[in-house]
Amino acid sequence: MQPSGNNGISNHPGAYRAREGLAYLFIDFNAYFAGVEQHDNPALRGRPVIVAPLASEHTSAIAASYEARPFGIKRGTKISEARELCPDIAVLPARHDRYVQVHKLLMKEIERHLPLEKVYSIDEAAFRLSRSERDPQKAIETARRIKAGISENVGPALRSSIGLAPSRLLAKLAAERVKPDGLTVLELADLPNSLRNIPLTDIPGVGNGVAARLARAGIGDFVSLWNLEPKHARAIWGSVQGERFWYQLHGFEVDEPPTKKSMIGHSRVLSREHETPAEARIVARALLLKAASRLRHYGFFASSLSLSIRLRPDGGWQGGRRVAYSQDSSCFLKSLDEMWESFLRHRRRETTSGRIGGVTVYLHGLAKAGDAAASQLDLFAEPAVKQNEGRRAELWRLIDEINSDPLAKFRRLGAPKGEDAAPAHRHIMLASQVGLDLNYLGAKIAFSRVPEEAEFLY
Ligand SMILES: [Mg+2]
Repeated sequence: MQPSGNNGISNHPGAYRAREGLAYLFIDFNAYFAGVEQHDNPALRGRPVIVAPLASEHTSAIAASYEARPFGIKRGTKISEARELCPDIAVLPARHDRYVQVHKLLMKEIERHLPLEKVYSIDEAAFRLSRSERDPQKAIETARRIKAGISENVGPALRSSIGLAPSRLLAKLAAERVKPDGLTVLELADLPNSLRNIPLTDIPGVGNGVAARLARAGIGDFVSLWNLEPKHARAIWGSVQGERFWYQLHGFEVDEPPTKKSMIGHSRVLSREHETPAEARIVARALLLKAASRLRHYGFFASSLSLSIRLRPDGGWQGGRRVAYSQDSSCFLKSLDEMWESFLRHRRRETTSGRIGGVTVYLHGLAKAGDAAASQLDLFAEPAVKQNEGRRAELWRLIDEINSDPLAKFRRLGAPKGEDAAPAHRHIMLASQVGLDLNYLGAKIAFSRVPEEAEFLY
């Protein structure tokens, strides 16, 4: 069936591309962070490995190698519990910079075979097959060449599951079928049968909210979801999103809205004059303020932050803190300062005089207001705390606005009497940031902001 105006999509801005064989290859790296650790350290290969977001026993694994899974350890298992289940387990703190580096190597390798269509997260991406590559036999050959290329040119520890299908959504569902190391073809002729047993919430685009609405409409399994009409899907979703979903599920490709983020952060290499702890702390605080400003810009709340410090000539320190969901820079700065104190204590204990070579600050555990996760804030916080938090976040948004366009507020409020020209640069900074001009820093210090694509889902 071809989409047409009478399906109610005529005024939809998204472009629907016709179905033509296996047009997409979706690749999902298996236990990616753990895989990178095993890639970098061959002694870890074949061993149970988990990666923790922070160097703390009170966090949960953000990746578990396949060798850890027979012990009942998976992503989300508490670190202390994992140690009980498998005393021999290797627990490694996350190294986001490294995961981004390897991600780039992997994408470059796959791009030798196919053009990249879209990066979904640090360990998931979709590639497009040309018209002549879309029949199953050719598509499978291409997928095998990609796997061999990754193994030979990047590393055999980086295993992946590949899905081939007419749309990206179906290709992702195909990739999910066999883990680790899968290669699965999903053709329209196989549907809805081959997916008849998958829980609806396993399908990207069907969260708990949508699943509840589907259930109220009597749709509880894949086959009845498949048999919906696009208009009906739109009504159930309560938005055009339902129709977009229907088309993707039925093998049409649809242009997507921007993807969700789950980490926002900045990293900076320090020049000589900033390599003392006191100077480096100011840079870390400035990076955090920038990250928090972007957090507010995207409308997110963060529930944890992490700090990594690279030492010269080698070594480093990592720390992390959980916070109640927040947009408030003061709250983040407080946690950062606590971490900085831990770092200083560590430094005194180790009696390292190592100079500081770089700092990286990340906000993670992101959610939007109204998300199930963020609403815990509403459940647990004292009303007075919430109100203060909200007021401070509002103040920070105002500061963001003024810093992003120093003239905006001035124009809105009108020029004060006696002044007919707006002041040129009116930035707001914390007292502790005075003397640190971010623009100046940007020009003077080798700047290695983690790129946009690095703000990935776990
Ligand atoms: Mg994965």
